[in-house]
Amino acid sequence: MAIIEVIDLKKNYRMGGSEVPVLKGLSFSVAEGEFVSIMGPSGSGKSTLMNIIGCLDRPSSGKYLLDGLDTGKMSDTARAHVRNLKIGFVFQSFNLLPKMSALKNVVLPQMYAGHRKDYRHGKECLQSVGLAHRIGHTPMQLSGGEQQRVAIARSLINEPPIIFGDEPTGNLDTSTGAEIMEIFTRLNREGKTVIIVTHEPEIARYTHRILRFRDGLLESDEPVV
Ligand code: ADP
Ligand code: MG
Repeated sequence: MAIIEVIDLKKNYRMGGSEVPVLKGLSFSVAEGEFVSIMGPSGSGKSTLMNIIGCLDRPSSGKYLLDGLDTGKMSDTARAHVRNLKIGFVFQSFNLLPKMSALKNVVLPQMYAGHRKDYRHGKECLQSVGLAHRIGHTPMQLSGGEQQRVAIARSLINEPPIIFGDEPTGNLDTSTGAEIMEIFTRLNREGKTVIIVTHEPEIARYTHRILRFRDGLLESDEPVV
């Protein structure tokens, strides 16, 4: 059963009166429990695609089914709700709130999902990424790798089945990036569907399948051997 299904997806951006095509008709699906990387040159539309399949943006045309639900037919509120339930996000620049402790950052998405903040569960999520000893630290008091662990803990707080990472190791050195990929590997083994964007082949090698695209089209879709 496909948890993500994209059919002839197109996205244009309006630039000074003309429409610039960025995604030119993508079709693929991802089954529940897969571990996938998306590769492609800078500017090829990887983040644009992530934002659409992450329900942060809408396509210009085409279909996107998330866990069988046609996201094109949903209101913005309904899409936000589905996003909060189904998807955890990890970004290249961590995107933590600078004045809040690690623990407060981690429990924040519970509020967006309409739950009450559960600090005990927040601590468990931090513990699961090896940061039980850093719950009161603010992002500035943490290394890049630690900040990304906090962001991963935050992505897990609502127990979504899907985790998206947009170049999650892009700001980290090689060995810290490897530690972050070990965490994604474990999450995938535990049953999460994990999709990451990367332009580093060593990072993509942690995943089981590589989707490559170029000029807004899918160039290849191959298993990692
Ligand atoms: P990637 O993540 O692969 O580097 P992006 O998806 O960020 O690529 O961008 C793809 C193309 O779309 C780029 O040419 C970029 O300039 C353009 N683009 C991205 N976001 C916008 C936007 N909000 N408005 C106009 N153009 C955009
Ligand atoms: Mg990008």
